[in-house]
Amino acid sequence: MSKDYYEILGVPRNASDEEIKKAFRALARKYHPDANPGDKSAEEKFKEINEAYEVLSDPVKRRNYDTYGNPNGPVAGPGPGPSEYAGGPFRDVFSDFGFPFGSLFEEFEEILGGSRSRAGTVLERGRDIEVELELSLEEAFRGGARDITVDRLEKCSTCGGTGSRPGSRPVTCPVCHGRGQVRSERTTVFGQFVTVTTCPRCGGRGKVVEDPCPECRGKGTVRRRKTVTVEIPPGVDSGLRLRLSGQGDAGARGGEPGDLYVLIKVKPHRFFVRQGDDLIVEYPVSYPDAALGTEVEIPGIDGRIPLRIPEGTQPGTEIRLRGHGMPKLGSRHRGDLIVRVKVTVPTKLTARERALLLELKKLQEGGGGRGAEEQGESFFRRLRRAAGADGEN
Ligand SMILES: [Zn+2]
Ligand SMILES: [Zn+2]
Repeated sequence: MSKDYYEILGVPRNASDEEIKKAFRALARKYHPDANPGDKSAEEKFKEINEAYEVLSDPVKRRNYDTYGNPNGPVAGPGPGPSEYAGGPFRDVFSDFGFPFGSLFEEFEEILGGSRSRAGTVLERGRDIEVELELSLEEAFRGGARDITVDRLEKCSTCGGTGSRPGSRPVTCPVCHGRGQVRSERTTVFGQFVTVTTCPRCGGRGKVVEDPCPECRGKGTVRRRKTVTVEIPPGVDSGLRLRLSGQGDAGARGGEPGDLYVLIKVKPHRFFVRQGDDLIVEYPVSYPDAALGTEVEIPGIDGRIPLRIPEGTQPGTEIRLRGHGMPKLGSRHRGDLIVRVKVTVPTKLTARERALLLELKKLQEGGGGRGAEEQGESFFRRLRRAAGADGEN
């Protein structure tokens, strides 16, 4: 999974340029190598912050990142590592879950002077969910909206996600007193060590539910079967993962929701073989048509395409029809349709056909077809090979 630049800067996905700049400045000041001499983790953090800002401060890169999960635009196919594509229009649907920031970065909220700050406590982000979506080649070609069913955790409507019985509220954790962490001191031969760990009583949340909600039994979430609409970009291929931000499991007790990943699987087609953005179709042509040339109509994925088969076309010849393949993801261009000519040889002959072929054979052997013989491999020899009857050479 790629890094979440918004999470790194601790800003919501709809943050303004000004907010992004402000967040970057505060973080850069905090993690600048000059302020943290010799601190490797601060240096890493500083690099990460810079990378995130480089993308989010550039309108083109930011749009690409929002749309495709990649600042450089769409990355299709099952290449190295799964590619991602964020479902833009859906990202704000669940903003009412409250906290747009990841738990790890909550301290950054303090830096930004955020009012939501709960010093030291941890909010659990909901889990990401992945579902597989099988499409026909035609569906992958057209793209468009598709409804999928997802089993996921949703914020409990009875308690509003707090986990407490309506009318009551979670109380400050008696063990950590709301800090979410506990300190334990250990004395060893090397000296005294102070270990800070997540509070075992409240799990780092700083609050505990004393009177749990009867609906969700204190969890703040309930499992529901939901229909989610996925916008499929035309030209998707197997292995592509579409990201629907915030459509995963709800976070426990106010944590932000996880993401929903839709893994695309395109079913094999009866006629077309896909090769990246190109489609390959085998087109049968009778040997007289291949020899004499003919006009045909090729069934393309979105309609018929007139095509001239030139005189003397050999079996296996590939004719490239530009722009009649699959849409290139995220662009207006299309791949090509490659027509592979398959010369058919009849398995049964009528008496008349047999007589004509014998006459043709005599004509060729008798010198009438010398031109073809002199090319080294005659048209008829190729025909015999295509039919798998190549005994006499
Ligand atoms: Zn509840
Ligand atoms: Zn606690």
